[in-house]
Amino acid sequence: MAHDVSFLRDLDLAGDVSTGDSHRESRAGDWGTPADRRVRPDAVVWPESTADVSAVLAAATDRGVPVTPYAAGTGLEGSATPVRGGISLDTTRMDAILDARPADLQVDVEPGVVGSAVDEAVARCGLFFPPLPSSGDFSTIGGMIATDASGMKTVKYGEVADWVLQLEAVLADGSVITAGSKAVKTSSGYNLKELLIGSEGTLAVVTRATLRLAGLPEQVRAGRAVFPTLDDAAAAVADAVTSGVDVATIELLDRTTARMANAYSGTDLPDAPTVFLEFHADHGVDEEVAFCRAIFESHGVERFDVGRDEAEMDDLWQARKDLAYAVDSWDPNLEPLHPGDVTVPISRYADVVRYAKELAAERDLVVPCFGHAGDGNVHYSVLVDPDDPEHVARGEEAYAAVVRRAIDLGGTATGEHGIGLGKREYLVAEHGEATVGAMRAVKRALDPTDTLNPGKIFPETVGGGRVRGERTRGDR
Ligand SMILES: Cc1cc2nc3c(=O)[nH]c(=O)nc-3n(C[C@H](O)[C@H](O)[C@H](O)COP(=O)(O)OP(=O)(O)OC[C@H]3O[C@@H](n4cnc5c(N)ncnc54)[C@H](O)[C@@H]3O)c2cc1C
Repeated sequence: MAHDVSFLRDLDLAGDVSTGDSHRESRAGDWGTPADRRVRPDAVVWPESTADVSAVLAAATDRGVPVTPYAAGTGLEGSATPVRGGISLDTTRMDAILDARPADLQVDVEPGVVGSAVDEAVARCGLFFPPLPSSGDFSTIGGMIATDASGMKTVKYGEVADWVLQLEAVLADGSVITAGSKAVKTSSGYNLKELLIGSEGTLAVVTRATLRLAGLPEQVRAGRAVFPTLDDAAAAVADAVTSGVDVATIELLDRTTARMANAYSGTDLPDAPTVFLEFHADHGVDEEVAFCRAIFESHGVERFDVGRDEAEMDDLWQARKDLAYAVDSWDPNLEPLHPGDVTVPISRYADVVRYAKELAAERDLVVPCFGHAGDGNVHYSVLVDPDDPEHVARGEEAYAAVVRRAIDLGGTATGEHGIGLGKREYLVAEHGEATVGAMRAVKRALDPTDTLNPGKIFPETVGGGRVRGERTRGDR
């Protein structure tokens, strides 16, 4: 249904408005939205200030026009896809680094700033923003806050939520709120900051954030370890984490993924399950490496090669960051169903990885598994032939079975990508009706007209009833 967005021209915005086809088409889906599920917004707005965001939201809510925040569009669950049309609110022009305060280990930023730009700006003060996702070179701080992203260093430093102190945000009615505090702790009132983080643009539009920073480590060691079996590798990672090895990054690639990385990135990874490691410390880093080695040896590690030169490690980390592309380009006849992102308690990590691989073998499917192993996070992709409905159905069933198993193991359907469209059907299975009912009540209280990013997170409209046509490939 087309919405009348002519009111936008009367709002006297500092930013731009477009109803042009190419702009609307470019905001019709995010990275995880299949071609046949893209929906064009009726208009794209590029706000340049909090006042712009407030004016657009107040006017859109008055007129019943949906508003979907959009940043870099690298989301993997269709979260920024404007499934009911209306306005795509593109925050990428609000990209200023407003105020760095090294003495407080803090920086204030606008939401559209790209993650790595924050790191570049504070590096000269010896600081960095630790929870950047693998996409941190091209995704924005606003998108990371909205999905509560995390990354390769989360095992040591935590997720984005752990590094946000305060948010300025605009509610659906246009009112501007400040959530959280610049003090590193506060017990004052409801914790609205935590409520907004991970809410995928369904409760408010973030217009400013105060981020916490960490000091760059004095000592860094990096390398890789090779295991005879995936079971050994997964068990070694879990043992290292529960034994308290102070590791900054611990990423697992199964044999299939190692082959894909070699084909795409030209690396020379052995044809075996491999763990990438990085250690950070201000002193005593080599003791930590030795501690990890001892644990890995007790799990039969075949090669433990930490202390590789920086250029070589840069190539390996780049290959790790490029795995999504490596999976996509592996076989021209196969397409990945959207990326799995299950996360389980670390003691169940080996179970969920083993289950995914067993399903792949039983059902004759290619299922590469990799991910932020130290967090219990498995990224898996099920590759299917899009022209073979039976193959697609078999793949979708395997995909869903892994999610269900992760939830049964006390884990979550999504460790970092969010629910968006693709994981809505697992929300009740994971949290139960009563909890999802409380989430719906929050949504109704803050956005009674369902203006902000409608159709996301919940398996039905906030008013009730399944919404037709709002599916991603992950839906069944
Ligand atoms: C190659 C690749 C690697 C990736 N690796 C990781 C990874 O390691 N870890 C990880 O967590 N994710 C990863 N992702 C997923 C994605 O990059 C993250 O979810 C990222 O945080 C999204 O940021 P974005 O700027 O692209 O946001 P978008 O995709 O544009 O939007 C994401 C969500 O945020 C909302 N939003 C955006 N800006 C605002 C705002 N200002 N206020 C309120 N809501 C807003 C949107 O409505 C949408 O719901 C990866 C993606 C790719 C393509």
